Amino acid sequence: MSAKLLDGKGISKEIQKETKVKVEQFIADHGQPPVLAAVLVGDDPASQVYVRNKERACARAGIESQLHRLPATSTTEDILAKVIELNETPKVNGILVQLPLPEQADSRVILDAIDPQKDVDAFHPHNVGLISQGRPQFLPCTPHGIVQMLKRCGLETTGKSVCVIGRSDIVGKPMAMMLGQKNSNLGPEMANATVTLCHSRTQNLASIAQQADILIAAIGRPNFVTPDMIKPGAVVVDVGINRTDQGLVGDVDFDSGKEVAGFITPVPGGVGPLTVTMLLENTLMAAMIQSKPIV
Ligand code: NDP
Repeated sequence: MSAKLLDGKGISKEIQKETKVKVEQFIADHGQPPVLAAVLVGDDPASQVYVRNKERACARAGIESQLHRLPATSTTEDILAKVIELNETPKVNGILVQLPLPEQADSRVILDAIDPQKDVDAFHPHNVGLISQGRPQFLPCTPHGIVQMLKRCGLETTGKSVCVIGRSDIVGKPMAMMLGQKNSNLGPEMANATVTLCHSRTQNLASIAQQADILIAAIGRPNFVTPDMIKPGAVVVDVGINRTDQGLVGDVDFDSGKEVAGFITPVPGGVGPLTVTMLLENTLMAAMIQSKPIV
């Protein structure tokens, strides 16, 4: 058996076209484009690539992007000062602080300082709380991209058993939270899953994973998921991006995994492009929220 490929790259292009049309309408209504400000601290090569990809995607969608570079030696206070300045700049609709930050900077303090209305990564506790209550303002980009992809491929989650491996605040935890809700922005068919959230202390991980109709791997370990962990015909979503001597690989052993799975995302070209795409959607959403008159 050979799995069908879930073409994240192609789906991203489709969503970006839709976003572009909505951005054009926003500009027609408000006379200015949505603005995304990225804060990049230091010169980590991977972060530079991510920020460049986000800038390019913004340009394609008609969103204005700003890049605020700070030196690698920046303290928590230096970065906070930049975040506060951006919070107070009315023209800036969305703020993203590219992670990871240098060791001396306290990421939690910095992310908590972002105005929740401009929090396009949805990391602020206010937004996380809204997500947990099933009434999100913004959805975190990677999990949202995954739900969009599943929806557009006709793969509903309602009633399905889902195994998420990895419980980070950025991917695993919000993913599990979203799929376990009664409803979603794409309808109840893209929620209502029975979710098991696994991590490094999980016992019998392989057998738990092997029972899942949908397996989502967000671990950060190359080729961690082997075919014995995949239920025949399952949907396998590989979030991992691991740099190895063989190039970029995911958390799933793709070549053997695709022989068991029914559907599988490639790395690269799977979840990665969707993450950037959903950031554009969140920036537009932030601009729309901020342009609403206060009643
Ligand atoms: P984190 O390092 O924050 O979290 C990794 C999670 O995996 C933790 O919950 C950890 O468990 C768990 N884990 C680690 N080892 C094991 C193990 N042996 N068995 C079971 N669970 C394990 O990673 P992120 O969520 O930030 O990222 C995960 C991967 O996804 C990375 O490769 C990252 O580059 C990629 N990524 C990709 C994105 C995309 O757009 N495609 C976006 C964001 C991330 P514990 O909590 O117990 O330590």
